Amino acid sequence: MYQKSFMNIANQEALANVNGSDGGPFGCVIVKDGEIVSRAHNQVLVDRDPTAHGEITAIRKAGQVLDTHDLSGCELYTSAMPCPMCLSAIIWANIKQVYYGNTADDAAAIGFRDAAIYDFINDGLKGKMLTLSQHDRDMTIGAFKAYQTAQKKLY
Ligand SMILES: [Zn+2]
Repeated sequence: MYQKSFMNIANQEALANVNGSDGGPFGCVIVKDGEIVSRAHNQVLVDRDPTAHGEITAIRKAGQVLDTHDLSGCELYTSAMPCPMCLSAIIWANIKQVYYGNTADDAAAIGFRDAAIYDFINDGLKGKMLTLSQHDRDMTIGAFKAYQTAQKKLY
């Protein structure tokens, strides 16, 4: 169930980044059973890592705290609608509940590309954002076939 106090912490993480050099004004909190597992803000600049969004950073910390890649049962609070990368990471982490504050359009209004990436996906991956093309599936499919018969399955 949504708790404003957790969104307030996500917002404090975002506010702490407004004048800092860590990255953009985005904050995130991951909660399990009513307790904070991790909290983070965007660290793209300080980590020199374009994937170090608040949600990704919080997911990485939560995985370490809970000693698992599977964050089933966790809830994620983020100060803004997750970008497609973070949304995918949230899904890969098996988090089923996300609460967000600002919209993708709010992020676009201050210069972030979240809405443009969603548009690119919604337009069938066509446009000038990047070129995505398939090659040599006959080579790469081998790892998938081997995985099918391997003992350990991740998903
Ligand atoms: Zn993101």
